[in-house]
Amino acid sequence: MHGQYLKGDIGTVAGSEKMGEKMRKPIEANLNSNAQSHKCCEELTGHTQKNKQLIAEFASLDSTDPEFVTHLVDRILAAAQDYSASDVHLQPFANGLEVLFRIDGVLQPIATFASEIAPNIVARLKVRSELLTYRTDIPQEGRIRAETSTSTNSNEASSSNRPDVEMRVSTFPTLHGERAVVRLFAGSDRFRQIEDLGLPADIAVGLADLLEKPAGAILATGPAGSGKTTTIYACLRELADNCKDSSERNKIRRNIVSLEDPVEVAIDGVSQSQIGERADLDLATALRFLMRQDPEVIMVGEIRDPETAEAALRASLTGHLLLTTFHAGSAAEAVGRLLDMGIEPYLLRSGLLAILSQRLARRLCRCHRTVSEAVDTLGVSLEEVSVPVGCEACHQTGFRERFVLAEMLVPDRTEVGSAIISRLEATEIERLAVAAGMITQWQRGVEAVAAGLTSVCEIRRVLGVSRCTNIHDEG
Ligand SMILES: [Zn+2]
Repeated sequence: MHGQYLKGDIGTVAGSEKMGEKMRKPIEANLNSNAQSHKCCEELTGHTQKNKQLIAEFASLDSTDPEFVTHLVDRILAAAQDYSASDVHLQPFANGLEVLFRIDGVLQPIATFASEIAPNIVARLKVRSELLTYRTDIPQEGRIRAETSTSTNSNEASSSNRPDVEMRVSTFPTLHGERAVVRLFAGSDRFRQIEDLGLPADIAVGLADLLEKPAGAILATGPAGSGKTTTIYACLRELADNCKDSSERNKIRRNIVSLEDPVEVAIDGVSQSQIGERADLDLATALRFLMRQDPEVIMVGEIRDPETAEAALRASLTGHLLLTTFHAGSAAEAVGRLLDMGIEPYLLRSGLLAILSQRLARRLCRCHRTVSEAVDTLGVSLEEVSVPVGCEACHQTGFRERFVLAEMLVPDRTEVGSAIISRLEATEIERLAVAAGMITQWQRGVEAVAAGLTSVCEIRRVLGVSRCTNIHDEG
Protein backbone atom coordinates (compact mmCIF):
# COMPACT_ATOMS: atom_id res chain seq x y z
CA MET A 1 0.00 0.00 0.00
CA HIS A 2 1.55 3.22 -1.15
CA GLY A 3 1.79 6.41 0.86
CA GLN A 4 -0.02 5.06 3.90
CA TYR A 5 2.49 6.55 6.33
CA LEU A 6 2.27 10.05 4.93
CA LYS A 7 0.11 12.47 6.86
CA GLY A 8 -2.18 14.89 5.09
CA ASP A 9 0.00 17.89 5.72
CA ILE A 10 2.67 16.57 3.39
CA GLY A 11 1.31 19.44 1.32
CA THR A 12 3.67 21.73 3.14
CA VAL A 13 6.30 20.48 0.74
CA ALA A 14 4.87 23.15 -1.48
CA GLY A 15 3.95 25.33 1.48
CA SER A 16 0.32 25.41 0.46
CA GLU A 17 -2.73 24.14 2.29
CA LYS A 18 -4.36 23.34 -0.99
CA MET A 19 -1.60 20.88 -1.75
CA GLY A 20 -2.45 19.13 1.52
CA GLU A 21 -5.95 18.47 0.24
CA LYS A 22 -4.60 17.24 -3.04
CA MET A 23 -2.31 14.78 -1.32
CA ARG A 24 -5.31 12.80 -0.16
CA LYS A 25 -6.22 12.28 -3.78
CA PRO A 26 -4.28 10.07 -6.13
CA ILE A 27 -0.87 11.44 -7.06
CA GLU A 28 -1.67 11.70 -10.77
CA ALA A 29 -4.54 14.07 -10.04
CA ASN A 30 -2.20 16.18 -7.95
CA LEU A 31 0.39 16.51 -10.67
CA ASN A 32 -2.10 17.33 -13.39
CA SER A 33 -4.23 19.78 -11.48
CA ASN A 34 -1.33 22.07 -10.75
CA ALA A 35 0.17 22.11 -14.19
CA GLN A 36 -1.33 25.41 -15.29
CA SER A 37 -1.16 27.40 -12.06
CA HIS A 38 1.35 29.85 -10.56
CA LYS A 39 2.62 31.80 -13.51
CA CYS A 40 4.55 34.36 -11.47
CA CYS A 41 7.88 32.59 -11.69
CA GLU A 42 7.58 30.89 -15.04
CA GLU A 43 11.28 30.56 -15.65
CA LEU A 44 11.57 28.66 -12.40
CA THR A 45 9.04 25.94 -13.11
CA GLY A 46 11.82 23.38 -13.05
CA HIS A 47 12.04 23.99 -9.34
CA THR A 48 8.30 23.73 -8.88
CA GLN A 49 8.35 20.45 -10.69
CA LYS A 50 10.78 19.20 -8.06
CA ASN A 51 8.23 19.80 -5.27
CA LYS A 52 5.72 17.64 -7.05
CA GLN A 53 8.27 14.97 -7.70
CA LEU A 54 9.22 14.90 -4.03
CA ILE A 55 5.62 14.55 -2.87
CA ALA A 56 5.06 11.87 -5.45
CA GLU A 57 8.22 9.98 -4.54
CA PHE A 58 7.52 9.93 -0.80
CA ALA A 59 3.97 8.78 -1.42
CA SER A 60 4.84 6.19 -4.04
CA LEU A 61 7.45 4.31 -2.00
CA ASP A 62 6.14 0.83 -1.33
CA SER A 63 5.66 0.50 2.44
CA THR A 64 5.50 -3.31 2.20
CA ASP A 65 9.05 -3.35 0.82
CA PRO A 66 11.49 -4.47 3.56
CA GLU A 67 13.75 -1.65 2.34
CA PHE A 68 10.97 0.94 2.60
CA VAL A 69 12.49 3.00 5.42
CA THR A 70 15.94 2.80 3.84
CA HIS A 71 14.60 4.23 0.59
CA LEU A 72 12.58 6.85 2.44
CA VAL A 73 15.56 8.14 4.41
CA ASP A 74 17.73 8.18 1.28
CA ARG A 75 15.04 10.15 -0.49
CA ILE A 76 14.69 12.67 2.36
CA LEU A 77 18.46 13.27 2.45
CA ALA A 78 18.68 13.57 -1.32
CA ALA A 79 15.77 16.03 -1.30
CA ALA A 80 17.51 18.12 1.35
CA GLN A 81 20.44 18.48 -1.03
CA ASP A 82 18.14 19.30 -3.93
CA TYR A 83 16.53 22.06 -1.86
CA SER A 84 19.97 23.35 -0.80
CA ALA A 85 18.87 22.89 2.80
CA SER A 86 21.50 23.44 5.48
CA ASP A 87 19.76 21.22 8.05
CA VAL A 88 17.13 18.51 8.19
CA HIS A 89 15.07 18.28 11.38
CA LEU A 90 13.21 15.09 12.31
CA GLN A 91 10.95 16.09 15.14
CA PRO A 92 8.73 13.53 16.88
CA PHE A 93 5.48 14.67 18.47
CA ALA A 94 2.43 12.83 19.85
CA ASN A 95 0.97 12.00 16.44
CA GLY A 96 3.92 11.56 14.15
CA LEU A 97 7.32 12.64 12.97
CA GLU A 98 7.62 16.02 11.33
CA VAL A 99 10.38 16.59 8.76
CA LEU A 100 11.58 20.16 8.29
CA PHE A 101 14.33 21.61 6.09
CA ARG A 102 16.23 24.77 6.98
CA ILE A 103 16.32 26.65 3.69
CA ASP A 104 18.03 30.03 3.47
CA GLY A 105 18.24 30.12 7.25
CA VAL A 106 14.55 29.54 7.96
CA LEU A 107 12.87 26.24 8.93
CA GLN A 108 10.28 25.03 6.42
CA PRO A 109 7.94 22.09 7.15
CA ILE A 110 8.33 19.42 4.48
CA ALA A 111 6.36 16.34 5.49
CA THR A 112 4.85 14.48 8.43
CA PHE A 113 5.08 10.72 8.83
CA ALA A 114 2.95 8.45 11.02
CA SER A 115 4.18 7.63 14.54
CA GLU A 116 4.37 3.90 13.71
CA ILE A 117 7.37 4.41 11.44
CA ALA A 118 8.92 7.41 13.25
CA PRO A 119 11.37 5.31 15.33
CA ASN A 120 12.38 3.36 12.19
CA ILE A 121 13.19 6.54 10.29
CA VAL A 122 15.40 7.84 13.10
CA ALA A 123 16.94 4.38 13.56
CA ARG A 124 17.84 4.19 9.87
CA LEU A 125 19.52 7.59 10.12
CA LYS A 126 21.48 6.29 13.10
CA VAL A 127 22.61 3.23 11.15
CA ARG A 128 23.85 5.45 8.33
CA SER A 129 25.76 7.67 10.73
CA GLU A 130 27.15 4.69 12.65
CA LEU A 131 25.40 5.51 15.96
CA LEU A 132 24.22 3.04 18.59
CA THR A 133 20.71 2.10 17.52
CA TYR A 134 19.95 0.26 20.76
CA ARG A 135 20.50 3.45 22.78
CA THR A 136 17.56 5.83 22.41
CA ASP A 137 17.94 7.44 25.81
CA ILE A 138 21.16 9.40 25.29
CA PRO A 139 22.19 12.18 22.87
CA GLN A 140 24.51 10.92 20.13
CA GLU A 141 26.58 12.41 17.31
CA GLY A 142 27.87 10.88 14.11
CA ARG A 143 28.56 11.48 10.44
CA ILE A 144 27.45 10.31 7.07
CA ARG A 145 30.50 10.65 4.92
CA ALA A 146 30.36 12.15 1.49
CA GLU A 147 30.75 10.17 -1.73
CA THR A 148 34.25 11.49 -2.30
CA SER A 149 35.51 10.46 1.13
CA THR A 150 37.52 7.28 1.42
CA SER A 151 35.29 4.70 2.96
CA THR A 152 36.36 1.61 4.85
CA ASN A 153 32.77 0.56 5.13
CA SER A 154 32.52 -1.13 1.75
CA ASN A 155 29.68 -3.43 2.76
CA GLU A 156 27.39 -0.48 3.55
CA ALA A 157 24.14 -1.42 1.86
CA SER A 158 23.49 1.93 0.25
CA SER A 159 27.04 2.97 -0.48
CA SER A 160 25.94 3.87 -3.98
CA ASN A 161 23.59 6.34 -2.36
CA ARG A 162 26.16 8.32 -0.45
CA PRO A 163 25.50 12.03 -0.37
CA ASP A 164 27.69 14.52 -2.23
CA VAL A 165 28.16 16.47 0.97
CA GLU A 166 29.30 15.57 4.43
CA MET A 167 26.38 15.22 6.86
CA ARG A 168 26.63 15.46 10.62
CA VAL A 169 23.85 13.71 12.50
CA SER A 170 22.89 14.38 16.11
CA THR A 171 20.10 12.75 18.08
CA PHE A 172 18.43 13.81 21.31
CA PRO A 173 15.87 11.91 23.43
CA THR A 174 12.50 13.65 23.87
CA LEU A 175 9.12 12.81 25.39
CA HIS A 176 7.84 11.41 22.09
CA GLY A 177 11.02 9.62 21.01
CA GLU A 178 14.35 10.66 19.60
CA ARG A 179 14.61 13.83 17.58
CA ALA A 180 17.39 14.06 15.03
CA VAL A 181 19.07 16.91 13.21
CA VAL A 182 21.21 16.40 10.12
CA ARG A 183 23.59 19.21 9.21
CA LEU A 184 24.65 19.29 5.58
CA PHE A 185 28.07 20.65 4.78
CA ALA A 186 28.42 22.13 1.36
CA GLY A 187 30.96 20.51 -0.93
CA SER A 188 34.48 21.80 -0.50
CA ASP A 189 34.44 23.62 -3.82
CA ARG A 190 31.11 25.35 -3.35
CA PHE A 191 32.76 28.54 -2.16
CA ARG A 192 36.18 28.61 -3.64
CA GLN A 193 37.55 32.05 -2.87
CA ILE A 194 36.77 35.33 -1.19
CA GLU A 195 35.32 36.74 -4.40
CA ASP A 196 32.69 33.97 -4.42
CA LEU A 197 31.30 34.89 -1.01
CA GLY A 198 29.24 37.84 -2.18
CA LEU A 199 30.85 40.24 0.28
CA PRO A 200 30.59 43.96 -0.51
CA ALA A 201 33.44 44.77 -2.92
CA ASP A 202 35.29 47.10 -0.53
CA ILE A 203 35.33 44.43 2.17
CA ALA A 204 36.41 41.66 -0.21
CA VAL A 205 39.33 43.78 -1.43
CA GLY A 206 40.25 44.85 2.11
CA LEU A 207 40.17 41.27 3.34
CA ALA A 208 42.36 40.02 0.48
CA ASP A 209 44.89 42.78 1.29
CA LEU A 210 44.95 41.83 4.97
CA LEU A 211 45.74 38.21 4.08
CA GLU A 212 49.03 39.44 2.61
CA LYS A 213 50.08 40.70 6.06
CA PRO A 214 52.66 38.59 7.89
CA ALA A 215 51.03 38.88 11.31
CA GLY A 216 47.86 39.89 13.11
CA ALA A 217 44.40 38.48 13.77
CA ILE A 218 41.39 38.49 11.49
CA LEU A 219 38.12 37.68 13.26
CA ALA A 220 34.97 36.71 11.40
CA THR A 221 31.99 37.26 13.68
CA GLY A 222 28.25 36.83 13.55
CA PRO A 223 25.57 34.62 15.08
CA ALA A 224 25.29 30.89 14.31
CA GLY A 225 24.52 30.31 10.64
CA SER A 226 25.79 33.71 9.50
CA GLY A 227 28.39 32.20 7.18
CA LYS A 228 31.40 33.29 9.24
CA THR A 229 33.06 29.86 9.01
CA THR A 230 32.55 29.83 5.25
CA THR A 231 34.33 33.19 5.09
CA ILE A 232 37.30 31.93 7.10
CA TYR A 233 37.53 28.81 4.91
CA ALA A 234 37.56 31.03 1.82
CA CYS A 235 40.43 33.02 3.35
CA LEU A 236 42.33 29.79 4.02
CA ARG A 237 41.82 28.68 0.44
CA GLU A 238 43.01 32.03 -0.83
CA LEU A 239 46.19 31.67 1.26
CA ALA A 240 46.71 28.02 0.30
CA ASP A 241 46.21 28.72 -3.41
CA ASN A 242 48.61 31.65 -3.27
CA CYS A 243 51.19 29.30 -1.82
CA LYS A 244 50.75 26.78 -4.62
CA ASP A 245 51.03 29.38 -7.33
CA SER A 246 54.64 30.44 -6.87
CA SER A 247 54.94 31.73 -10.45
CA GLU A 248 54.13 35.22 -9.22
CA ARG A 249 57.05 36.67 -7.37
CA ASN A 250 55.07 38.29 -4.56
CA LYS A 251 53.39 35.02 -3.62
CA ILE A 252 55.44 33.31 -0.96
CA ARG A 253 54.78 29.82 0.30
CA ARG A 254 53.59 29.86 3.91
CA ASN A 255 53.15 27.15 6.52
CA ILE A 256 49.39 27.07 7.12
CA VAL A 257 47.88 25.09 9.99
CA SER A 258 44.40 24.86 11.43
CA LEU A 259 42.91 23.73 14.74
CA GLU A 260 39.27 22.83 14.34
CA ASP A 261 36.49 21.17 16.29
CA PRO A 262 35.46 19.49 14.09
CA VAL A 263 37.36 19.69 10.79
CA GLU A 264 34.48 20.58 8.47
CA VAL A 265 36.04 20.71 5.03
CA ALA A 266 39.43 19.43 3.87
CA ILE A 267 41.57 22.08 2.18
CA ASP A 268 44.61 21.35 0.05
CA GLY A 269 47.74 22.97 1.35
CA VAL A 270 46.55 23.34 4.95
CA SER A 271 47.60 21.07 7.84
CA GLN A 272 44.26 20.60 9.55
CA SER A 273 44.02 19.14 13.04
CA GLN A 274 41.04 18.00 15.05
CA ILE A 275 40.93 19.36 18.57
CA GLY A 276 38.37 19.16 21.36
CA GLU A 277 37.00 16.33 23.43
CA ARG A 278 37.01 13.82 20.61
CA ALA A 279 40.72 14.36 20.00
CA ASP A 280 41.46 14.73 23.71
CA LEU A 281 43.43 17.86 22.91
CA ASP A 282 42.33 21.26 24.11
CA LEU A 283 42.94 24.33 22.04
CA ALA A 284 45.32 26.13 24.39
CA THR A 285 47.57 23.03 24.62
CA ALA A 286 47.39 22.46 20.88
CA LEU A 287 48.37 26.08 20.20
CA ARG A 288 51.32 25.82 22.57
CA PHE A 289 52.69 22.71 20.85
CA LEU A 290 51.90 24.09 17.42
CA MET A 291 54.26 27.01 18.00
CA ARG A 292 57.13 24.52 17.75
CA GLN A 293 55.87 23.51 14.29
CA ASP A 294 56.95 26.87 12.90
CA PRO A 295 53.53 27.95 11.61
CA GLU A 296 53.02 31.22 9.73
CA VAL A 297 49.26 31.15 9.31
CA ILE A 298 47.08 29.65 12.05
CA MET A 299 43.36 29.07 11.75
CA VAL A 300 41.47 28.49 14.98
CA GLY A 301 37.95 27.22 14.32
CA GLU A 302 36.25 29.30 16.96
CA ILE A 303 37.13 31.39 19.99
CA ARG A 304 34.79 30.25 22.75
CA ASP A 305 36.53 31.16 26.00
CA PRO A 306 39.01 33.66 27.47
CA GLU A 307 41.92 31.16 27.38
CA THR A 308 41.52 30.60 23.64
CA ALA A 309 41.04 34.29 22.95
CA GLU A 310 44.16 35.18 24.88
CA ALA A 311 46.30 32.41 23.34
CA ALA A 312 45.12 33.25 19.82
CA LEU A 313 45.73 37.00 20.14
CA ARG A 314 49.16 36.42 21.65
CA ALA A 315 50.02 34.24 18.66
CA SER A 316 48.99 37.11 16.39
CA LEU A 317 51.39 39.42 18.24
CA THR A 318 54.31 37.05 17.81
CA GLY A 319 54.54 37.01 14.05
CA HIS A 320 51.62 34.80 13.04
CA LEU A 321 48.65 35.54 10.84
CA LEU A 322 45.66 34.26 12.77
CA LEU A 323 42.20 33.56 11.35
CA THR A 324 39.32 32.69 13.59
CA THR A 325 35.58 33.05 14.23
CA PHE A 326 33.83 34.54 17.21
CA HIS A 327 30.18 34.80 18.20
CA ALA A 328 29.11 38.46 18.32
CA GLY A 329 26.31 40.60 16.93
CA SER A 330 28.47 43.29 15.37
CA ALA A 331 32.13 44.16 14.91
CA ALA A 332 32.08 46.71 17.74
CA GLU A 333 30.21 44.29 19.99
CA ALA A 334 32.97 41.71 19.38
CA VAL A 335 35.51 44.18 20.79
CA GLY A 336 33.29 44.73 23.83
CA ARG A 337 32.83 41.01 24.41
CA LEU A 338 36.57 40.30 24.15
CA LEU A 339 37.27 43.08 26.67
CA ASP A 340 34.58 41.62 28.94
CA MET A 341 36.36 38.25 28.70
CA GLY A 342 39.34 39.93 30.31
CA ILE A 343 41.48 40.33 27.19
CA GLU A 344 43.90 43.21 27.65
CA PRO A 345 43.00 46.17 25.43
CA TYR A 346 46.58 46.42 24.11
CA LEU A 347 46.33 42.83 22.79
CA LEU A 348 43.25 43.82 20.83
CA ARG A 349 44.59 47.08 19.50
CA SER A 350 47.95 45.67 18.45
CA GLY A 351 46.87 42.15 17.54
CA LEU A 352 43.67 42.71 15.58
CA LEU A 353 43.93 43.44 11.87
CA ALA A 354 40.19 43.45 11.37
CA ILE A 355 36.89 42.23 12.69
CA LEU A 356 34.48 41.22 9.99
CA SER A 357 30.89 40.91 11.11
CA GLN A 358 28.33 39.34 8.85
CA ARG A 359 24.73 38.12 8.49
CA LEU A 360 22.88 36.34 5.74
CA ALA A 361 19.64 37.98 4.66
CA ARG A 362 17.14 36.38 2.34
CA ARG A 363 16.73 37.79 -1.14
CA LEU A 364 13.16 38.44 -2.31
CA CYS A 365 11.83 36.01 -4.88
CA ARG A 366 10.70 37.38 -8.23
CA CYS A 367 7.12 37.04 -7.02
CA HIS A 368 7.51 40.08 -4.68
CA ARG A 369 5.44 43.25 -5.04
CA THR A 370 6.12 46.85 -4.13
CA VAL A 371 4.02 48.94 -1.73
CA SER A 372 4.13 52.71 -1.52
CA GLU A 373 2.14 53.19 1.69
CA ALA A 374 4.64 51.41 3.96
CA VAL A 375 5.01 53.09 7.35
CA ASP A 376 8.21 51.28 8.31
CA THR A 377 11.08 52.14 5.99
CA LEU A 378 13.90 51.61 8.51
CA GLY A 379 13.92 55.29 9.39
CA VAL A 380 14.92 56.51 5.96
CA SER A 381 12.81 58.16 3.31
CA LEU A 382 11.80 55.57 0.73
CA GLU A 383 9.06 56.07 -1.85
CA GLU A 384 8.23 52.41 -1.89
CA VAL A 385 9.47 49.13 -0.48
CA SER A 386 9.20 45.55 -1.70
CA VAL A 387 7.33 42.91 0.24
CA PRO A 388 7.30 39.13 -0.19
CA VAL A 389 4.34 37.43 -1.83
CA GLY A 390 5.07 33.73 -2.22
CA CYS A 391 4.85 31.29 -5.08
CA GLU A 392 5.75 27.66 -5.66
CA ALA A 393 9.27 28.52 -6.73
CA CYS A 394 10.04 29.92 -3.29
CA HIS A 395 7.99 27.33 -1.35
CA GLN A 396 5.54 30.18 -0.56
CA THR A 397 8.14 31.95 1.57
CA GLY A 398 8.53 34.91 -0.78
CA PHE A 399 12.33 34.57 -0.66
CA ARG A 400 14.99 32.72 -2.60
CA GLU A 401 18.66 32.41 -1.64
CA ARG A 402 20.58 34.79 0.54
CA PHE A 403 23.09 37.60 0.35
CA VAL A 404 25.69 38.87 2.82
CA LEU A 405 25.28 41.93 5.02
CA ALA A 406 28.75 42.73 6.32
CA GLU A 407 30.81 45.33 8.10
CA MET A 408 34.55 45.37 8.69
CA LEU A 409 36.13 47.19 11.62
CA VAL A 410 39.82 47.97 11.39
CA PRO A 411 41.08 48.92 14.86
CA ASP A 412 44.35 50.19 13.45
CA ARG A 413 42.62 53.43 12.53
CA THR A 414 43.82 55.72 15.29
CA GLU A 415 40.59 56.82 16.89
CA VAL A 416 39.24 53.26 17.07
CA GLY A 417 42.50 51.98 18.51
CA SER A 418 42.50 54.60 21.27
CA ALA A 419 38.84 53.89 21.98
CA ILE A 420 39.74 50.24 22.59
CA ILE A 421 42.62 51.21 24.89
CA SER A 422 40.19 53.49 26.80
CA ARG A 423 37.66 50.62 26.97
CA LEU A 424 34.93 52.77 25.49
CA GLU A 425 31.43 51.36 24.99
CA ALA A 426 30.69 49.35 21.83
CA THR A 427 28.35 52.08 20.56
CA GLU A 428 31.13 54.64 20.81
CA ILE A 429 33.62 52.32 19.11
CA GLU A 430 31.11 51.81 16.32
CA ARG A 431 30.55 55.57 15.97
CA LEU A 432 34.29 56.16 15.62
CA ALA A 433 34.64 53.29 13.14
CA VAL A 434 31.83 54.78 11.03
CA ALA A 435 33.55 58.16 11.18
CA ALA A 436 36.68 56.39 9.89
CA GLY A 437 34.75 54.97 6.94
CA MET A 438 33.13 51.74 8.13
CA ILE A 439 29.76 51.03 6.52
CA THR A 440 27.62 49.19 9.09
CA GLN A 441 25.51 46.08 8.49
CA TRP A 442 22.50 48.27 9.19
CA GLN A 443 23.48 50.71 6.43
CA ARG A 444 24.02 47.77 4.05
CA GLY A 445 20.57 46.51 5.03
CA VAL A 446 18.95 49.88 4.31
CA GLU A 447 20.70 49.97 0.93
CA ALA A 448 19.42 46.46 0.15
CA VAL A 449 15.84 47.51 0.97
CA ALA A 450 16.16 50.67 -1.10
CA ALA A 451 17.41 48.54 -4.01
CA GLY A 452 14.38 46.22 -3.67
CA LEU A 453 16.66 43.28 -2.92
CA THR A 454 14.94 42.36 0.33
CA SER A 455 12.16 43.46 2.68
CA VAL A 456 12.16 45.70 5.76
CA CYS A 457 11.07 42.81 7.98
CA GLU A 458 13.85 40.57 6.70
CA ILE A 459 16.45 43.19 7.63
CA ARG A 460 14.87 43.57 11.06
CA ARG A 461 14.82 39.78 11.46
CA VAL A 462 18.48 39.20 10.60
CA LEU A 463 19.79 42.22 12.46
CA GLY A 464 17.55 41.50 15.46
CA VAL A 465 16.12 45.00 15.56
CA SER A 466 12.61 45.27 17.02
CA ARG A 467 9.69 43.41 15.57
CA CYS A 468 8.11 44.60 12.38
CA THR A 469 4.43 45.45 12.64
CA ASN A 470 3.71 47.94 9.92
CA ILE A 471 3.79 46.00 6.71
CA HIS A 472 0.63 43.99 6.16
CA ASP A 473 2.00 41.21 4.02
CA GLU A 474 4.53 40.09 6.58
CA GLY A 475 2.46 40.22 9.78
ZN1 LIG B 1 8.21 33.31 -5.17
